Amino acid sequence: MSWALIATWQMALKGAAVSKEILESHGSAADAAIEGVSVIEDEPSFHSVGYGGRPDREGHVTLDGGFMDGDTLHFGAVASVEGFRSPVRIAASLARREANNFLCAEGAERYALEHGFEQRDNLTEEALEIYRKEVDQRKKLSAYDGHDTVCFLTKDEKGSVCAAVSTSGLFMKDPGRIGDSPLCGSGYYADSEIGAAAATGLGEEIIKGSLSFAAVAYMEAGMDAQSAAEKALRSLEAKLIAKNGKAEAMSLIVLNKDGSCGVSTNVDFPFVYASDQNDQMLYLARSVDHKTVISPYEKDPA
Ligand code: ASP
Repeated sequence: MSWALIATWQMALKGAAVSKEILESHGSAADAAIEGVSVIEDEPSFHSVGYGGRPDREGHVTLDGGFMDGDTLHFGAVASVEGFRSPVRIAASLARREANNFLCAEGAERYALEHGFEQRDNLTEEALEIYRKEVDQRKKLSAYDGHDTVCFLTKDEKGSVCAAVSTSGLFMKDPGRIGDSPLCGSGYYADSEIGAAAATGLGEEIIKGSLSFAAVAYMEAGMDAQSAAEKALRSLEAKLIAKNGKAEAMSLIVLNKDGSCGVSTNVDFPFVYASDQNDQMLYLARSVDHKTVISPYEKDPA
């Protein structure tokens, strides 16, 4: 396949259309990944990324983002950033530096300000309403399952492979909490000689298996994308169940350098895939007896 993309969740559809257009018109994997993610960062109706993202325990929308260029293995990331439009663009800019590639909180905000990144209050009325309801209903606040990360893996016609991710992390997270998403190796990984992977789900679980790096390493050892995705996620799932009695939600997307894709999940997980040989389509991955079953997404995606 000359180009291909895979992205997490139904919300990725709008960004995937932009990403696909870039790849079809001979654009780079880096631009396709960054632009795809940033479309989602601008969309207030998605409550787990960028504008309209869910607040932390104190009502602040703090965002995480990451980017990796598989040609060079350069990565950039930001964590706990407040008041900026596009964490993924800041992350991609940090990937061009020699060092100081991963910045958090005030340090990341200072960098973004000094480098002219657009500011924006990401707390929408709707997100504030969701937050207030949650505060009213809870005596003791704790993270719950209102979280998702948008992840894009892209391959362009020159053979470059990239990964980009963005999230507001866990709803009601502790201030300062950082999940897997901005952590290279856990939330995303890309190597143009092999392929790429990215994860969504409970960050604290994903980090325990360096899930994205594990999937790419399995491909390097010779597995196809689907086997690598399944091996990485199921090994971690089995370990977590053996050690702790349970494994929380985790989903993993994988893109081989040949453009083929793989997905593994332990929850219902919609994803988008497109290539020069496959029309852009929404699929549903489900976990049946600890095996991932993939089918076209049949519910109305509106
Ligand atoms: N992995 C993200 C985090 O833990 C959340 C998600 O993807 O659902 O921050």
